[in-house]
Amino acid sequence: MIKKIGILTSGGDAPGMNSAIRGVAKTAINSGIEVFGIYDGYRGLVEDRMVQLHKEDVVGIQSRGGTILGTARLPEFKQPEVREKAVQILKARGIEALVVIGGDGSYTGALRLTELGINCIGIPGTIDNDIASTDYTLGFDTAMNTIAYCLDHLRDTSSSHHRCTVVEIMGNKCGDLTLFSGVGQGADILVTPDHFMTVDQIVDKLNSYRGQGRKQTTVLVAEKMKELNVVDLAEAISQRTKYEAKWEILGRIQRGGAPSAFDRLLGATLGCYACKLLMEGKGGICVGLHNNKLCYNDIPEALQMQRDPHPTIGGMIELLNN
Ligand code: ADP
Repeated sequence: MIKKIGILTSGGDAPGMNSAIRGVAKTAINSGIEVFGIYDGYRGLVEDRMVQLHKEDVVGIQSRGGTILGTARLPEFKQPEVREKAVQILKARGIEALVVIGGDGSYTGALRLTELGINCIGIPGTIDNDIASTDYTLGFDTAMNTIAYCLDHLRDTSSSHHRCTVVEIMGNKCGDLTLFSGVGQGADILVTPDHFMTVDQIVDKLNSYRGQGRKQTTVLVAEKMKELNVVDLAEAISQRTKYEAKWEILGRIQRGGAPSAFDRLLGATLGCYACKLLMEGKGGICVGLHNNKLCYNDIPEALQMQRDPHPTIGGMIELLNN
């Protein structure tokens, strides 16, 4: 039976990470295991910055955005000697296993540590929903709610001025935030890597909307598509349609805010589940939610899995968004 575990948050922050920290900490402490919160991801680990977490340290944190442990990127963690140092620090402190909350980069670090004898379990924490081994990542639902709030506000001003608003949505090459927000909010046009449209196609469609009498339009564009950016697109729309177009990049506002009820539940349950699996001696795996059930996969398998492009929802765009 393990006696001491660590927990860290790594890579991009996401609402719901605190709920997962609480889930891990409460499960560990209630099972007689000491739990150490490691600051700023793998950076804090190799700098030996950590603190023992007690129940009072995690009271109420599930309602707070961000991560109380802080997060960071440490590219040097790809070097074997840096990881060896991390293992020495953990062994000196008697920490036998780790929960790593983050994205696929953090998962790879967790796998490498497991290979060095420290069992690690990953929890998917990113607003991007770009981890194929889970239906939902922590923070995705909260980000969708934030986007809904922003789109409502933008639509108010856009409809008053009879404008077209072009909005860039985060997702790190994954179109889920744009697709789900666009379908849910009834955007007039949405463009993602899986549902791509050229500038010409977008302009044609907007001209046809204008011909139908649509006075105000919203176009959602997923970030990081080389072929399309919101600044050039808004310019093209202003020049080639009767809409005056304005662009907005929602940016990191999508990452902040109080976690939604769903993300709090997801964090709590994934945290508890990950801790229970560590107690069973498992490592090199990542937990998730699939078809409404908690699940886990080996990290290499999870990293190979292809993301579901949501063909059913994608097939509804023509009917719902036209
Ligand atoms: P995310 O976890 O959100 O995908 P990153 O890709 O930036 O974010 O990865 C977070 C951290 O995970 C990196 O800064 C690094 O410390 C660690 N990491 C990423 N890739 C590797 C790798 N191939 N080997 C070891 N550690 C890695």
